[in-house]
Amino acid sequence: MRYQNDLYQSTNPPKNETNNRPKHLFIGFACATIITISYAFFSEKSATPLPASIALTIPDITTKMEQSGKSDALVTEVDPPETSPHEVSSANAPTQSMQSLSTIWQEHKIASGESLSAIFLSNNLSRLDLNNIIYANDISSKFATIQPGQSLLIGHDLSGNLSHLVYKKSAYAELKATRLEDGSFKVELIEEELDRRINSATGIIHSSLFLDGQNAGLSNNIIMQLANIFAWDIDVALNLHEGDRFSVIYEKLYMGDEFIGSGKILAAEFINQGKSLTAVRYKNPAGKISYYSSSGDSLRKAFLRTPIAFARISSHFNLKRKHPVLNRIRAHKGVDYAARTGTPIKSSGDGKITFRGRKGGYGRVIIVQHGHKYSTLYAHMSKFKKSLRVGSRVKQGQVIGYVGKSGLASGPHLHYEFRVNGVHRNPLTVKLPNASPIQAKYKADFREKSRLLLQQLAQLSSTQVAANELFK
Ligand SMILES: [Zn+2]
Repeated sequence: MRYQNDLYQSTNPPKNETNNRPKHLFIGFACATIITISYAFFSEKSATPLPASIALTIPDITTKMEQSGKSDALVTEVDPPETSPHEVSSANAPTQSMQSLSTIWQEHKIASGESLSAIFLSNNLSRLDLNNIIYANDISSKFATIQPGQSLLIGHDLSGNLSHLVYKKSAYAELKATRLEDGSFKVELIEEELDRRINSATGIIHSSLFLDGQNAGLSNNIIMQLANIFAWDIDVALNLHEGDRFSVIYEKLYMGDEFIGSGKILAAEFINQGKSLTAVRYKNPAGKISYYSSSGDSLRKAFLRTPIAFARISSHFNLKRKHPVLNRIRAHKGVDYAARTGTPIKSSGDGKITFRGRKGGYGRVIIVQHGHKYSTLYAHMSKFKKSLRVGSRVKQGQVIGYVGKSGLASGPHLHYEFRVNGVHRNPLTVKLPNASPIQAKYKADFREKSRLLLQQLAQLSSTQVAANELFK
């Protein structure tokens, strides 16, 4: 079963990739004037970063091995294979390889701390080309995520102009910019076709989602996804109970027979203190992907409770607080999160930036308006996310700036405010509205696509219960 890889879909709305291996690159290597490039260099796997597992771990209760219903290919057909709207047609293929024949390639090994603009400077590349590449489309900003130790392939045409820029993002994905005739660049993410095998696992909570998830055979990546999917309903660090149960149906990615890593969770169930929560991943015909309950309600809220990851609350919402810098009573109409300078701050909901600038003691501030009723404020930033302006639309979870101590602040922290109809509310306790459910016009499609997954999930759960009874 071969599916088009959709690993990046959730972050890249406009899908602009093809399944074709960059064959013309190889032709280019063979034929062009050569500065030798070792493609083998790129074959090393990028290690999956370990999530901050500590946050999920509740120690001191012994961990038992649970029945882990591992079965390959539990679900044989989940989604019809998708076809990319941008597949390379045979019509333009010859032009591409002609172009490649006259490409002179050069490898630049990325040094620690080296930015793309520094690389352009040191290789005498044009600043204009850099801008044209970075702002080419929604994908192209990924060029800013280049990692030290990796390489950039720089291609010139015979007249010395930059014609290609290629970055091997991972073992199976490559970011590629190609100069078009008008001097602009086309940027695409080219991904290897991966084999998605469907797996399932079940587990019972004895100590923590992290440990019990591992015992059920889940990777850290899948455990984090599971925690995130149910994050609005269950605080996996604080609100798990002995005997809570979970079932997960997820993808394992293979290239040939080689295991590459975990893919996405397709469906999951969590039984928290007897209450069952179900999640199904659904991509609507317009391309929006989210997790929904079996009845099509969103599992997300319209707002993140916390706009910053793994930070410590250093000051609560308190209308009679003594100000630490001013040393007099002054209402604290938000929550402070202590974090290192530079920690990314995320917009807690979808909305529009209505203020971005300095505001007295608040230092660098961004205010986001969410519809008519809600607004959120983020203060003391060290810097703003560059691409954003007043009027920019932002998505929930999108980085808008970075922690700092601008304005009146005793140390680096985020001051976060939540207003409902202009009135300050405690961000930690305010009732958050639900994110939108599946639109009526997609309900039938959702029912059809989720039916099999929900069946499998119910089956997993009942098998687990039966097995559990047996061992009592
Ligand atoms: Zn504050």
